[in-house]
Amino acid sequence: MADLRKKEPLELLMEGNKRYVSGKPIHPNQDTARRTELSSGQRPFAVIVGCSDSRVPPEIIFDQGIGDIFVIRVAGNIVDDVALGSIEYAVEHLGTELVVVLGHSKCGAVTATVKGGEAHGHIGSIVHIIMPAVEKAKTQQGDIVENAIRNNMDMVTEAIKSAEPIITKSIKEGRLKVISAYYDIDTGVVEFEK
Ligand SMILES: [Zn+2]
Repeated sequence: MADLRKKEPLELLMEGNKRYVSGKPIHPNQDTARRTELSSGQRPFAVIVGCSDSRVPPEIIFDQGIGDIFVIRVAGNIVDDVALGSIEYAVEHLGTELVVVLGHSKCGAVTATVKGGEAHGHIGSIVHIIMPAVEKAKTQQGDIVENAIRNNMDMVTEAIKSAEPIITKSIKEGRLKVISAYYDIDTGVVEFEK
């Protein structure tokens, strides 16, 4: 198998998504040899902060395998201290150089926050974090859910970028990039932003 690691992390994700979109995934790094190779340690090339939505599985939509991407998934692709700690672990101990916050169309968590109403149980914790993105969307032109999804992606990206001290230091030293991306559930296409 070709050594994919010589390419830039973003390039690897873009190429994998292209393969997935075109219906020609290669399902790399999913064999016994790969499992054996990784028994002594992992070095994932990217962190993906994605939504738990079952239609947005990062390994599949980026056509990656075992040990390739370090995935954090919670409804609404948001971060709390535990998620930030997970990202920091990948950056500090695994040498990961790219963090992608992956929002997606038709996100149920964002839609529910837009609709409002009582959030039962622990769901309120999620709504609470997404709410500022919805508040901002109320002041914007266009579809409120769509705008809130994109605001949420950007706000989560900013929250990660400003997390002291590990992430801020890594960015300052040029060892880390944090970007946002949007996944279209219908087309399968991931559009990368800044
Ligand atoms: Zn979602």
